[in-house]
Amino acid sequence: MNKPTSCLAVVVLLGSVFSVTAANAELLTRKTESGTVVGYKDTPLLPSTGGKYHVHDPDRPLPKQVTPPKANAADEDGTAPSDAIVLFGGNDLSKWKPSSWKVADGTVTAGHGSLVTKDPLGDCQLHLEWMAPATPSNNMMNRGNSGVIFMGLYEIQIFDSHASHEKQIYPDGQAASIYGQTPPLVNACRRPGEWQSYDIAFTAPVFEAGKLVRRAKVTMSHNGVPVHVDQEIMGPMAHRRIAAYEPHAPKLPLVLQGHGSPVRFRNIWVRPLNR
Ligand code: MG
Repeated sequence: MNKPTSCLAVVVLLGSVFSVTAANAELLTRKTESGTVVGYKDTPLLPSTGGKYHVHDPDRPLPKQVTPPKANAADEDGTAPSDAIVLFGGNDLSKWKPSSWKVADGTVTAGHGSLVTKDPLGDCQLHLEWMAPATPSNNMMNRGNSGVIFMGLYEIQIFDSHASHEKQIYPDGQAASIYGQTPPLVNACRRPGEWQSYDIAFTAPVFEAGKLVRRAKVTMSHNGVPVHVDQEIMGPMAHRRIAAYEPHAPKLPLVLQGHGSPVRFRNIWVRPLNR
């Protein structure tokens, strides 16, 4: 999500009850067999659910946790296809605009503010690996929070969502969700402190004469497990609301979200898809 910090920063834990001071925002909890899910019911209904669930609805079923396969060779050594553009190979951030993100030990750690590519991207295949902090934040709403934001608009969430946590964020905000819209098919999250991979094929929306003629779509795997297949994106990422498409350029910079959580990244590469 784009500007959630002010919202989330005001989340206060009061015993087992959360409250927020943002206008009209009521963070609710739902009990499950293994813990609780937090979310909202005072948000718009999502048309893609047939009006069954609200944006960030805690009653939406949590995707089932599956144990992903062991990392493959590409994850271990960073091997990329020969025509890939390596955005971060472990040494420098020369493909990115200046930021507060720090490189060390072959990884880059999220700082305050986002990391933005110098070059714009449209349709593309993206591979990256990320790791949530081994010691989870006390603020569960910012537990390993980052994100892959295609075109600076369309977010695939990064979050520490392993099912072993007693508290879970709303399903459309967990790892590999299309933020605020569509949970992953299953929860393929590894535990905090373990490397995880995203392999994403993203196609940009198409506008003609100022009108949307094709929505953005995503097909992706999380740790080798398919979590979205040809899934339409309903519009730009938004917190507690439904955002509408607005015409934009066919290529825009890729953004990795800085959300005040020291999520680490490695092996980031991209292949433009010329269709
Ligand atoms: Mg995020």
